[in-house]
Amino acid sequence: MQIVKENGPITGEHIADQLNLTRATLRPDLAILTMAGFLDARPRVGYFYTGKSGTQLLTENLQKIYVKEYQSIPVVVHENVSVYDAICTMFLEDVGTLFVVDKSSQLVGVLSRKDLLRASIGKQELTTIPVHIIMTRMPNITMCEREDLLIDVAKKLIDRQIDALPVVKKSNKGYEVIGRITKTNITKAFVALGEE
Ligand code: ADP
Repeated sequence: MQIVKENGPITGEHIADQLNLTRATLRPDLAILTMAGFLDARPRVGYFYTGKSGTQLLTENLQKIYVKEYQSIPVVVHENVSVYDAICTMFLEDVGTLFVVDKSSQLVGVLSRKDLLRASIGKQELTTIPVHIIMTRMPNITMCEREDLLIDVAKKLIDRQIDALPVVKKSNKGYEVIGRITKTNITKAFVALGEE
């Protein structure tokens, strides 16, 4: 990088000469530095230094991660199922948030762990209360779409203090739930970015 910084644009061959290496030996290293964004290569001109810092490159990479690359499969329940059944679904599916849909499979609400706990500490009969009574309902649902940037979704999770949001597809019928993004998905993206 120092050689390119001082002499760029410079061909791979000239860099190799300065290091007493063959062009072939150097090729993988140059490829990595170019892919990482520290150097840029122009055909017949050579390598030059981009001047971008590690942080700048990290920010650029972060702006290229979309919801569709990290979304998980959503777990949905019908609005008329009982609180009892919703609790069973949450355990069986091993998720922390359920999305509630109406008979035409459109999003009408969200059920979190605490929503179900709150309903459970009352004296009600859980098998007879439908989830639509206790859920957070439309239009107060925070949603996202496949093409949204993951960083924007992460900000929504923080701003609204929630654990998950549905990935939806809008139609004239409403919002179809096609995925979910949780704090776990964001953590996975964070780790992948660190390992790149
Ligand atoms: P927990 O209940 O485990 O704290 P959350 O922080 O996700 O889980 O939920 C807090 C509250 O916000 C609950 O009442 C829940 O119904 C609601 N909520 C969760 N996700 C969303 C969302 N995407 N849009 C709107 N409200 C939500």
